[in-house]
Amino acid sequence: MSRVTGFAIEHTAILDADGRLLQPLPAWCADPAALVELYRWMVLTRTFDTTAIALHRTGRLGTYASSRGQEAIAIGVGHAMHPDDVLLPSFREHGAQLLRGVLPEELLLYWGGDERGSNYSAPACRQDFPVSITVGGHASHATGVALAFKLRGEARAAVCLFGDGATSKGDVYEAMNFAGVQQLPVVFVVSNNAWALSTPRAEQSAGMTIAQKAIAAGFTGEQVDGNDVIAVRTRVGEAIDRARSGNGPHFLECLTYRMSDHTTVDDASRYRNPEEVEPWEARDPLSRLRAYLVGNGAWDEARDDTLRASCAATIDTAVQAYLDTPPQPPETLFDFLFEAPPQALREQRRTMLDAVKAAQARAEASGNV
Ligand SMILES: [Mg+2]
Repeated sequence: MSRVTGFAIEHTAILDADGRLLQPLPAWCADPAALVELYRWMVLTRTFDTTAIALHRTGRLGTYASSRGQEAIAIGVGHAMHPDDVLLPSFREHGAQLLRGVLPEELLLYWGGDERGSNYSAPACRQDFPVSITVGGHASHATGVALAFKLRGEARAAVCLFGDGATSKGDVYEAMNFAGVQQLPVVFVVSNNAWALSTPRAEQSAGMTIAQKAIAAGFTGEQVDGNDVIAVRTRVGEAIDRARSGNGPHFLECLTYRMSDHTTVDDASRYRNPEEVEPWEARDPLSRLRAYLVGNGAWDEARDDTLRASCAATIDTAVQAYLDTPPQPPETLFDFLFEAPPQALREQRRTMLDAVKAAQARAEASGNV
């Protein structure tokens, strides 16, 4: 018997949980100002997250997926992308969207059930895709975007984010396989947060790593400490640059942990031992970067207080803009699905409008308007 092939999966960590460097800083962040910028974005993202959950709890936002504890992945990815790359997010990467230019009030509109929240106003993110709630369904879109870049001869990359659960989906396998065959400029970034709703990682895949799934598709995969924003930014940045240079796809597995329930309508205590969560508090991506910056004189408590107040004010303003946005007429529910709606939907639209008019008439007749 002879060996046909073999593979290895590398793991990268640069900043440990206590904010100590495990290896020299990469060149892109030799100036601490670059790391301060990442820290600012992570604090803004967490402020947004905390506020969104409070809005849901008080009946002013729909079902929402928290990104608490996973900010380093979204911010590392968003920061590494070039303006003309295209982001295809899943539903827990609010930080990447904010960094790309999506307004916090647009994200709130989206999570409040208003599709105008996906009509991004900033030119920088107009070509980014909306949130994909369908698990892994956007992987094939990412491959399609990357194919377009290749056919047009454009040096751009598609960056597709999804969770560990998505990597068991046929959509993702098919997208990766095609990307490998065509050597497309796409970077797949997996937030392996140990849970896919109530399915633990051990029941998700028998593979030792998720990164090795890239090997079957004919391209490279690696692991990174997903709570270390320096490591994420460094490794995804290199992958994006390779993709833009015509060197094909890459797969990055970011190891993190879902600190929250799956969404605001989930109760993780029904299937998850709280003792499992506790050690991850000490691995928080924000506190470790803050510890590093403070230790190196690039940050202090006064600046932290100022930043938190500034983020709170930014998000409060966004909340007000969101709450002040008049709702759309109910029939718009049907208006953005097809350019020319099929007969069945036209009938449903008419039925709904008749029902709305009848309800209004009854309310007026009873004086209850
Ligand atoms: Mg997951």
